[in-house]
Amino acid sequence: MSRIPDKILDEIQQRCDIAEIISNYFPLKRAGRNFKACCPFHHEKTPSFIVSPDKQIFHCFGCGAGGDVFSFIMKQEHIDFPEAVRFVAAKVGVRIEIEQKEQAPGGYSVSSALAKINELAAWYFYQNFIKDERAEYARKYLQNRQIDKESVEKFRIGVTFDLWDGLLNFLRKRGIKDNLLVKSGLVIRNAQGKLYDRFRNRIMFPIFNGQGKIVGFGGRILASTKAEDTDKQPKYINSPETDIYIKGRNLYGFNVSKEFIRRQDSVVIVEGYLDCIIPYQFGIKNIVASLGTSFTIDHVRLLRRYTRNIIIVFDSDAAGEGAALRSLDLLIEEGMNVRIVRLEPGFDPDAYVRKYGQEHFQEMLTSAKSLFDYKLDLLLEKYNKEVPEHKTKIAEEMLGIITKIKNAILRTVYIKRLSEVLAVPEGVLLVELKKIKAPVIYNRVFGATQNSQAYKVSKIAELMLMSLMFENAELVPEVKKVITYDEFSDPVIQKIAKHLFASNDKDLKPTALLNRINDQRVSSFISNLLVTDLGIKDRKKSFEDCIKKIKKDKIQLRLNTLQRQINKVQQSDEQGMKVLLKEYHYLKKEKGIYEKTSKKEN
Ligand SMILES: [Zn+2]
Repeated sequence: MSRIPDKILDEIQQRCDIAEIISNYFPLKRAGRNFKACCPFHHEKTPSFIVSPDKQIFHCFGCGAGGDVFSFIMKQEHIDFPEAVRFVAAKVGVRIEIEQKEQAPGGYSVSSALAKINELAAWYFYQNFIKDERAEYARKYLQNRQIDKESVEKFRIGVTFDLWDGLLNFLRKRGIKDNLLVKSGLVIRNAQGKLYDRFRNRIMFPIFNGQGKIVGFGGRILASTKAEDTDKQPKYINSPETDIYIKGRNLYGFNVSKEFIRRQDSVVIVEGYLDCIIPYQFGIKNIVASLGTSFTIDHVRLLRRYTRNIIIVFDSDAAGEGAALRSLDLLIEEGMNVRIVRLEPGFDPDAYVRKYGQEHFQEMLTSAKSLFDYKLDLLLEKYNKEVPEHKTKIAEEMLGIITKIKNAILRTVYIKRLSEVLAVPEGVLLVELKKIKAPVIYNRVFGATQNSQAYKVSKIAELMLMSLMFENAELVPEVKKVITYDEFSDPVIQKIAKHLFASNDKDLKPTALLNRINDQRVSSFISNLLVTDLGIKDRKKSFEDCIKKIKKDKIQLRLNTLQRQINKVQQSDEQGMKVLLKEYHYLKKEKGIYEKTSKKEN
């Protein structure tokens, strides 16, 4: 099913070491034959992410993520399978020749089709902006904001007009099918089935992913001649989530700022599009915008390859709110070094830079306070530390932050500071600190991984049989002789068996299945199976026992169904009942065979 030949996949895998590839992203610790780390795909404090160099797979026992090197790169870089293969191939120096037929229409995955549509749309918006006379108002607006031509090009800013079908017609003319248009989120289908543009009369900001592909758009309303119309519209709207645009996964501007972030070893995080574009234009290049979403593990993963030093710029109105500060908890827990700048009332970064200039803004960034100091100052403003109840309140809140800091030295320093400020002995604070249990789970962070919880198989016999087949591929034809794939009750095992039995490839490796079956549950199951030692001793006996047990269970299941049917027709349908009874007795006997033999062997 993969469009890249197995031979090439094999060659790439032979040349690369999954542990080496993964350790480019974060350090791995040796643990026996394997390596361990805290999982990059969910938030955790004790490592449950295992990398097996022998089997060339990874598996997380926490969230169930797992697979081979391609699965890892897909998840880590948020790219699809063919892209991941190319990515790894480039690293290990394997050339991939793309056959002509692979480029045929329909050969593209939905994600690359959507990226292409976004690319076309961005081009359309941009052409509107630079060429069309209707864009005069938009051009004036950006001029007033001092956004120069270079920035317009760099961030590919564009404009849509007050039309219901401007983009729609443009894309249709280029042969894009309606269902893909709707999937892209750029076009909406109403209840009558009619299509229309989502973004109308707006300045358009393409949202790029880390690789520079456009995954979505944000649009800022343009004041129109019909003023009362504009009032009803929200100031900003964004693309809905699509196959390639998932909120909380990207940071706006990251594609153009990442190299500066690396060089300066720090990142400035602001809120909106213009808050990012204008400082960037004025020379603050290590800047990204969060677009108002709270921080996720994906953001941390994106940033920590470049820096651990984060400077958050708050507008003055948001700065005092507990919610804004709490949204930083995750960053602290993931070991990021967070500092905060609060702008004076009435300013956002965009207005600030325009009024005071880049140097002044840079000074503010340099003198940013640590989250600890920032919060302490806020609390000291709010409470009177001489009042015992207030003192307790301040201590509680501050200890809440300290407990999240991973670095023990830093924790000690902060305890000491807090003790001085509040005039409370360090020992007392330490006792209080111990009482605070670190919060266990952050649901908002887990949102994305919740669905991919480690896959659990209920039938141990099916699991063992799979494990045996994975270890000895020669067993596959043996199993195939006595069991059909649909005799497995577990849906994931059924799927794997179907592929295994259908393949005539004698050397089919389990990891090759990972790439053929594009299913999260399957990858999770296989990687789990490969890193877990089921402790099977007598292989031959286990093999036979498993088959008997599976057969027996299957028959029992059918017997239960028959029993229910018999009860139902007992009174009404004598003929039907006879047929059912016949099957019932037959199966009962057959089941007996498996039971006897297994008892004898025990
Ligand atoms: Zn995990």
